[in-house]
Order: sequence, then structure tokens, then C-alpha cells
Amino acid sequence: MSRIYLDNAATTAIDPEVLEAMMPYMTSLYGNPSSTHEEGRLARLAVETSRQKVARLLNCHPSEIYFTSGGTESNNLALRAAVKDLGITHIVTSKIEHHAVLKTVQSLQANNGITVNYVNLKPDASIDMKHLNQLLRSLAEKNVMVTLMHANNELGNLVDLEEVGEMCNAYGCYHHSDTVQTVGHYQLDIQRLKVQMMSASAHKFHGPKGIGMLYIKSGLGLNGIITGGGQEKGVRAGTENVAGIVGFSKALEMALFRLETDRAHITKLKNRLIDFLTSLKIPVNGALGDKSLYTVVNASFPNDSRCETLLMDLDIAGIAASGGSACSAGNGGSHVIEAIGKSPFNNIRFSMSRNNTVDEINELGRLIRTYFA
Ligand code: PLP
Repeated sequence: MSRIYLDNAATTAIDPEVLEAMMPYMTSLYGNPSSTHEEGRLARLAVETSRQKVARLLNCHPSEIYFTSGGTESNNLALRAAVKDLGITHIVTSKIEHHAVLKTVQSLQANNGITVNYVNLKPDASIDMKHLNQLLRSLAEKNVMVTLMHANNELGNLVDLEEVGEMCNAYGCYHHSDTVQTVGHYQLDIQRLKVQMMSASAHKFHGPKGIGMLYIKSGLGLNGIITGGGQEKGVRAGTENVAGIVGFSKALEMALFRLETDRAHITKLKNRLIDFLTSLKIPVNGALGDKSLYTVVNASFPNDSRCETLLMDLDIAGIAASGGSACSAGNGGSHVIEAIGKSPFNNIRFSMSRNNTVDEINELGRLIRTYFA
């Protein structure tokens, strides 16, 4: 059997049709979109057509889409520019955010005097909305930004962004969300989500690496954090990654076009894997059902010597999975699992995509059964 790739929350395989759409912009159509000659104009056309496509798919205006190098940069841009340009003094977030948010917030706390409040988590790591409400009420006089990820990349937990957005509106707070794990996996409608900023990354939905976007609601008044040429209306200087931008829009278009079929298929795989784990009394972490991303399963394995080598043994047996949180001592363990009060060392994340099959999940189940029987 060829290798079984179950680390799709880390990155996905680029779709051949996406690569095909990108190729001309890495070969014959190599112009710089800022150039005024024909080569430049053709590149500009590709960038702006892609922007329009992305805006249509996410229900916003093309002028509100800013292309970046990925999720990490989008989160940095949103948070750092909000502090610099909007005068944010308080950030409300959670301890289970991706490091691209968590470390940025910590850096703003250490270097810019920002006060950070962490919202409480419930035992399954879902956000305690009552506590969020209390926090925002207590900060009503301050200039606050709320940043909560739409889906947690380790556990899959989903946050109700509409509810968060309504609270933000009620208390006059700014609202950013790291939607890196959900763009391309759900039919997101920016108007309904009530976000003012939202980050995405193409390599999480079968697009290329090194290209992402930040949605910034029009009129917000954000300037960039990188100085240079005035690309992306001065918000993100640097020559545009034309092929990447074309790949982003193509991958998003494809992902949303085939969304229902892929979602049904991946949900079936997820449920099968959960059944395997449950039959072996291996607990699954995080929220379940519709409150969890359908691509991710996070399990806590028995914390003994078998667990120390499980991830490596799976790799040797041809299966790629991950811990953010490798199932071995020696790394720092998962800050996400730690935040919900569990040992951060003995969990593994399996994350699936449309390319996985039932046979692959069966093979994983067989191996785990042999290991822990
Ligand atoms: N945010 C989340 C939730 C992620 O899962 C990731 C990638 O692992 C990122 C941000 C960073 O995105 P990128 O790899 O495009 O920088």
C-alpha cells in the first residue's frame, strides 16, 4: 500500500487542476502586475480576476481582499495593524489559538503594552460564551479587539462566529477571526459572520503554499505593517505572488464547488475513525458532531511506553499523522491540549481530506488495534 497521508490540517496536496491554472503565471505570463506594459497588464488582470472570484465566493467586495503570504502573515497583519492604526488597547482571545495569533498577541503585550484577556474554555475546549460576554461587558469603556479562531487546528472545535460577532457589535469591539482551517471547508458568508478581519491560507484547501489573504472590512482604516511599494493598496507591500493568487482563487472555487460531496465523504471517514478509537476505549478530544471540524480527529492514547513510539511507528508503517503535540516526550507538547487540562504529550491528530479513502482508515484502525490490543 502506498503512504497514507492523514495530516491534512498541516497541509494538503495541491490539486492538479490548481497547478495547471497556475503554470502559465510561472512560465510565459511572468509579468509584474505593477508594470504598465502588456506583460504587466496580463499579470494584473490575473490578480484582479482572482480577487473578484475570491470576493464573490466569500460574499464581500473585491477591494476588501488583501493577498498575503499565508495564514501567519494575515494574522500578524490583522493584529499588529489593529494595534497600530485602530488604537486597540485590549485583546480578548483564547489559550488554544494557533501560535500565529497567540505569539503575536503575547508580543503585542510585551512590546506595545496591550492588555490580553483569555476567555475561559469548557472541558471540551469550546469557548465559554457567557464568560466572553462578561469579559466584553467589563471592558466596555476600552478599545477592544476580539480574536477567536473559527476552527481549532488541533482539536477541530468550531466557534460560532456569528454569536461572537453579535457580542462584538453590542459592545463596540473589533472582531478578527483566524479562519485558516475553515475557508474552503465551509460555505462562509462574511456578511453573516460579522467579522471585520478574517485570515485564510490556500494550502489548507488543496491550493499552493505561501499564499493567503486577509479580509479587511472597507473603511476600517488599516495600514500595513510591511513598508515598500504600494501593492495591495499600501496594506501589503511587495510584488504580488501572481501564480499563488491564481492558485488561491482556483483552489477556493474548486473546494466550494465540490464542498457537499467532499464533506459527506470526509465526515464518513471521521466517524469511522472515531468508531475504531471508541471500540478500543481511546478517548477523542474536543467537541463532537457539528461542533467540530469534519476533517480533524484528536485522540489521547494510553500514556505509556507504547505511546512514546506510536507516531514514529505509524510513520514507519506508512501513515503520516501528527501531534501539534507529537506522541512523544521531548517536544514541548501541545499548548492546546494542555489548556484543557490534559497531558499534552500523548495525543495524536489525524486530519483527513477528499483524497483519503475508507480503506486507508481501515488500515489505520487495524494498526492501532494491533498496537493497543
Ligand atoms: N492558523 C491556523 C489555524 C493554522 O492551522 C495555520 C497553519 O497551520 C496557520 C494559522 C498558519 O498558516 P500558514 O501556514 O499559511 O502560515
